[in-house]
Amino acid sequence: MDCKNAQRLILPFLEGSLKGKTLLRFATHVEQCEECKEELTIQYLSSEGIARLEEGKTFDLERELKEYMNGAIARQKRRKYWILGICLTEILAIIVILLIFAYALL
Ligand SMILES: [Zn+2]
Repeated sequence: MDCKNAQRLILPFLEGSLKGKTLLRFATHVEQCEECKEELTIQYLSSEGIARLEEGKTFDLERELKEYMNGAIARQKRRKYWILGICLTEILAIIVILLIFAYALL
């Protein structure tokens, strides 16, 4: 993923609508690219920071952004394992059905 694409995806990421491989590619790029990381931080600060200032709460937005990013990646990875689990279960079910048929034919 290049910087242009990554920066185009910052808003969807902050809105929580980035999913799947796009999310992982985005996260990987932002982790490695100072320019995009800075752009993400600025947009996060400007969207979240203003809301927090209005609420009058103290905050550590840089830490929160890191937690938000880690949470999004962790959810995506769990989802991947969940899908893998479903696939394996289906394969196992098919094998069992085939064995039952094979057994019935004998
Ligand atoms: Zn970049």
